[in-house]
Amino acid sequence: MPPPRTRGTALRQRLAELRGPEVPAKALDARALAALAANPGCRRRAILDGAGVNKTALADALGAPSAFGQSQFALTRGNAFEAKVKADGGAELLRLVHAKLDRAAEPPERAHVPDLTATGPEGRTARTALALRKAGEAPGTWTLLDHPMLALDVAGSPAFLEPDAVVVHPDGSWTVVEIKSFPMLDGSADPAKVGAAARQAAVYVLALEEVAARLSEHGTAPRVRHRILLVCPKDFSNQPTASAVDIRKQRAVTARQLVRLTRIEEIADTLPEGTCFDPALPSAELTAAVESVPATYTPECMSACELAFHCRDRSRAAGAVTSLGRAIRADLGALSTVDDVLAAAHGTAGDPTDPAVAALRRAARLRAEALGAREAVTCP
Ligand code: SF4
Repeated sequence: MPPPRTRGTALRQRLAELRGPEVPAKALDARALAALAANPGCRRRAILDGAGVNKTALADALGAPSAFGQSQFALTRGNAFEAKVKADGGAELLRLVHAKLDRAAEPPERAHVPDLTATGPEGRTARTALALRKAGEAPGTWTLLDHPMLALDVAGSPAFLEPDAVVVHPDGSWTVVEIKSFPMLDGSADPAKVGAAARQAAVYVLALEEVAARLSEHGTAPRVRHRILLVCPKDFSNQPTASAVDIRKQRAVTARQLVRLTRIEEIADTLPEGTCFDPALPSAELTAAVESVPATYTPECMSACELAFHCRDRSRAAGAVTSLGRAIRADLGALSTVDDVLAAAHGTAGDPTDPAVAALRRAARLRAEALGAREAVTCP
């Protein structure tokens, strides 16, 4: 007699069915986890990520390939910049951490850079945890962990994450460092890119907090700083500059999303029997499966999710106001489609006591008056 299925194994089995029995699960990386925080309300993304579906392959199979991926030139340039930032034992990087985050500490004349090489992600994760523990046992020194490996528990499975660097301060606290190749002009960078970097760093901070919690069982309780260091090229040069970024908000949103991911069972239960996202399925069947999960498309999806082109087309075809952006969506209250909005503005539908409807009618009146005035001026 087969052993009784526990809730965990039943869920794993259900997710494997959704992915396709022959399809290996795609592990979640920091970018994917960070993107959860970019669009927290999307059930489609939650179930696809939870089931380990390869969304790039899915988007290709749906006929709406994603536009993600860096050019070889950008990758080479990014790697060269990172090498420059970390040259000489990370001297410049540590100088920036000291200048931007910890001026009260002793300047980092010399730092410890432990060797983190090990076999496989599990080995590297253990090596990183050991290096962090040892760094905590040597107060008063700076330690630079170059490409450490962290594990974050996601819906019961570990996701392995590799930040650019983690710095241990002389007081034993830890800082995540993100090195990006987009420029910082006059001290500020593109807010959308900074936001994406902050969401990614928030994932690393959560993973570090898990390490810190484990270390605290052995007596030490390291503090994971919630201001990270973002290092970018200064203006149009190749010289590094940096800015401290507060990631508390992104950390809170991502933590909430991770809790929701553990509830993907609820979303799975709402799907029709036999739903499967295997990219090898016929296009019509695959499209029906994807469309059976509600999505919340927003313009932010374009830089955060592989299914963006597919969802944008559907959202536009349905006239959904979410495709106009979150701010407009929030202003429109209960009006969820462009047709509803136009009907409300023209007075053919909508509750006049609804503030959104009243504002739309006022705007439509003003527009008509302005156009009427213009016609009066231009007509002979
Ligand atoms: S692109 Fe689609 S699936 Fe991805 S987050 Fe946006 S709405 Fe959700």
